[in-house]
Amino acid sequence: MKTALITGASRGIGAECAKVFAKDNYNVVINYNNSENQARALEESLIRQGFSAKAIKADVSKEDEVGYLVSETVKAFGSIDVLVNNAGIWHFGVLTDISSDCWDHIINVNLKSVFLVTKAVLPYMINKKEGSIINVSSIWGLVGASCEVPYSAAKAGVIGFTKALSKEVGPSNIRVNCVAPGVIGTDMNKDLSDEELADLKDKTPLGRIGSPEEIAKIIRFLASDGASFITGQVISPNGGFVIY
Ligand code: NAP
Repeated sequence: MKTALITGASRGIGAECAKVFAKDNYNVVINYNNSENQARALEESLIRQGFSAKAIKADVSKEDEVGYLVSETVKAFGSIDVLVNNAGIWHFGVLTDISSDCWDHIINVNLKSVFLVTKAVLPYMINKKEGSIINVSSIWGLVGASCEVPYSAAKAGVIGFTKALSKEVGPSNIRVNCVAPGVIGTDMNKDLSDEELADLKDKTPLGRIGSPEEIAKIIRFLASDGASFITGQVISPNGGFVIY
């Protein structure tokens, strides 16, 4: 049985990824940081349905906690076949109001975490000469968002990381790809007003925001044999909001 480690899987897109991979017979590791109850409830629900799941707490921006996450995963399931670097936080504010600490926090959770978790997981994939890594960026990493400079910079960094690493580890039969979603209905957008949401839908050719399930299915595809010749690519499921 293969194993998928999904960071930030207590809620939103990560939680949907855990469900999709579990239903396809993967052992799934549900990483969480603050939302322990949600992570445990998801773990219990998947196990109750006969699937294999384990929730593990770790702040993925901290190297020692990432070490714990990866070693507990390997202890439980023996290997790691798929890594989904999904954990992320969002911040809204003009650049002149952003403190150096705030900048570091956004970059560390959204970008440094991708480096830390990938670095810790890669030896297991290189050893097997097989693996798939999917990094979650954002349309704002592609085109930039006003009042979201640190988030946009971090997500653009995730795209550069994906492209460079795919070249480095391709010879070890490890594929590295990136998903850059548009506006998705998760807690991350819960503070948007009805007017803001209506405006976003208006500007989207498909006329709606996306669901976390739609993103999880693309991530699942990128990890599958159907995507065996895809590496270093960015797929942006965004309803046509950004076409580049
Ligand atoms: P969400 O519902 O707010 O969930 C965020 C997840 O990240 C939670 O499970 C949270 O875990 C986890 N997380 C945050 N900081 C963490 C840390 N330091 N260590 C470990 N886990 C951490 O957000 P979402 O919409 O599903 O977002 C998932 C990813 O998609 C993010 O990378 C986000 O930037 C990206 N994205 C989202 C959208 C969108 O419109 N929603 C669009 C483009 C890209 P805890 O609650 O347990 O702390």
